[in-house]
Amino acid sequence: MKAAVYYNLNDIRYEEVARPEIGRGEVLLKVRSCGLCGTDISKMVQMLVTPPAILGHEVAGDVEEVGDGVEKFHPGDRVFAAHHVPCFVCHWCRHGNYSLCPEFRRTNIDPGGFAEYIRIPHINVARAMFRIPDELSYEEASLIESTACCLRAILKCRIQPADTVVVVGCGPMGLLHLKLALLLGAGQVIASDLVNYRRMVAEKFGAGCSINPQAENVRGKVMELTSGRGADLAIVAVGNPQAISQAMSLVREGGTVSLFAECPGGSKLTVDPNLIYHEVNLIGSYSSTPSEQRIAFELIRSGRLKLKGLITHRFKLEQLGEAVKLARQQKESLKIVITAW
Ligand SMILES: [Zn+2]
Ligand SMILES: [Zn+2]
Repeated sequence: MKAAVYYNLNDIRYEEVARPEIGRGEVLLKVRSCGLCGTDISKMVQMLVTPPAILGHEVAGDVEEVGDGVEKFHPGDRVFAAHHVPCFVCHWCRHGNYSLCPEFRRTNIDPGGFAEYIRIPHINVARAMFRIPDELSYEEASLIESTACCLRAILKCRIQPADTVVVVGCGPMGLLHLKLALLLGAGQVIASDLVNYRRMVAEKFGAGCSINPQAENVRGKVMELTSGRGADLAIVAVGNPQAISQAMSLVREGGTVSLFAECPGGSKLTVDPNLIYHEVNLIGSYSSTPSEQRIAFELIRSGRLKLKGLITHRFKLEQLGEAVKLARQQKESLKIVITAW
């Protein structure tokens, strides 16, 4: 089979690799769509994976083969499958930290979503794979995972009806947060991003106001729009410690800052501890679990969450290098999917 294999940032090769073999309880999936995630890009840029490597984890496709003992799925089924799955019984799981579960980190699709076929391990098949209806496209279904990650983060923040939410960083994940905040009842969403195009899309997606932090005083604007009180929630969807520090100054006393994106290793955060003393919450969230994936699926399937406008580019598997280049420019592109093979 063919796969897009990462050697280095400028050398991603479309080449022949061994098709995975499946065992008992496992499924061979023919990948139809795989989202290109910010974490795939940071793994390549920061060289966090040892080449040659096949990345990609936001998958949807067709069941090609099922192993012995698989009864829930049959060849030809259109499905979504998550790459990591918690055990639900360990110390971390018992504390609700499902995405920190050792089993969660161990389970993975094989070899990675940027391949023609992947092996879905037994635990993933049993707990985090489900059929998608015909009317849901593969590319929309491949966004269930990223939507679920945003949902996990935003549900931790307990938005109340009519709350003011600031989204700092309007890339695909920031924009997904924007849509989810409105869906969960936010009264107004204020978007902040350096890129004109992203601010324009944010307004199209329902942000009442968008701010260019290089040209305007973000804090001044947020205070003006909240009668001097500050936002109830600021979501930082960019891996930048300064953006997190700034977000701490945008929320009201008792407000919440959601730290969604991973910062480069070795980053340091400067925060006035008295903000935390005055009950500002700083909440982190990593990845997603089967329950958020199920909610994400329902929101997308029912049409309550429309993702079509979020996908701006589609590439074939052999064009992964080009797709990565485009995503890294962070200009007029949002979600990029590798599809149509
Ligand atoms: Zn992802
Ligand atoms: Zn566990």
